[in-house]
Amino acid sequence: MSSRTPIMAGNWKMNLNHLEAISHVQKLAFTLDDKDYEGTEVVVLPPFTDLRSVQSLVNGDKLKIGFGAQDISVHDSGAYTGEVSGPMLAKLNCSYVVVGHSERRQYHGEDEAVCNAKVKAAFRNEIVPILCVGEGLDVRKAGNQVAHTLAQVDGALEGVPAEQAERLVIAYEPVWAIGTGEVATPEDAQEVCGAIRGRLAELYHQDVADKVRIQYGGSVKGDNVNAIMSQPDVDGALVGGASLNADEFAKIVRFRD
Ligand code: PEP
Repeated sequence: MSSRTPIMAGNWKMNLNHLEAISHVQKLAFTLDDKDYEGTEVVVLPPFTDLRSVQSLVNGDKLKIGFGAQDISVHDSGAYTGEVSGPMLAKLNCSYVVVGHSERRQYHGEDEAVCNAKVKAAFRNEIVPILCVGEGLDVRKAGNQVAHTLAQVDGALEGVPAEQAERLVIAYEPVWAIGTGEVATPEDAQEVCGAIRGRLAELYHQDVADKVRIQYGGSVKGDNVNAIMSQPDVDGALVGGASLNADEFAKIVRFRD
């Protein structure tokens, strides 16, 4: 494992209303001990409607749990009905925002240009994007997972300066492993995460590449997280389904045990 601080982030997707969110974060905070946060960053990514409740709880009780949003508008304000802007998220103390999740790419047609604009909107508002990239099953079967994923990285980072890029979190999420129970092998994860770091060194500098945290996402659970985290270029996990269970997510946070 590297010297980068591992980041375990729970993407709740469209689950838990604001009352359930409070109870879930309370249970997580109760389950985790102080030592569990040592050397590991713990983040939850609730739906927009939960953010205010989570913020009040986290800030009021000074919890060590960070939080962020699942999407961001490319615009900072204006006539964009239904959108939520970077300044709004920043005002709520969101530290992170998910950009380019495969479900946004699939159901909302988000392409590299949109992801690029969202990465820039996040940084413009001092929010760190968790940029999701990864191949579908057809691409994996054709053996093109590295080229496909690196093209997504290139597109999303076009025009993003090094001083912003070095703060990025990138989540390598093979689409065929998301919510399917089909987890990539640690070697599969390392192959692409290592290639992403190599591409960051080409696009920027080795120093930038060394700072960026690269997560693996796709059916991560308490019993498979340790093997994945043992890979040199894997710095954390983006967790969907298992993050909805506080005990299971706590096991993931305690990946070293
Ligand atoms: C995700 O949605 O980012 C994800 C990785 O989901 P799951 O852990 O359920 O596969």
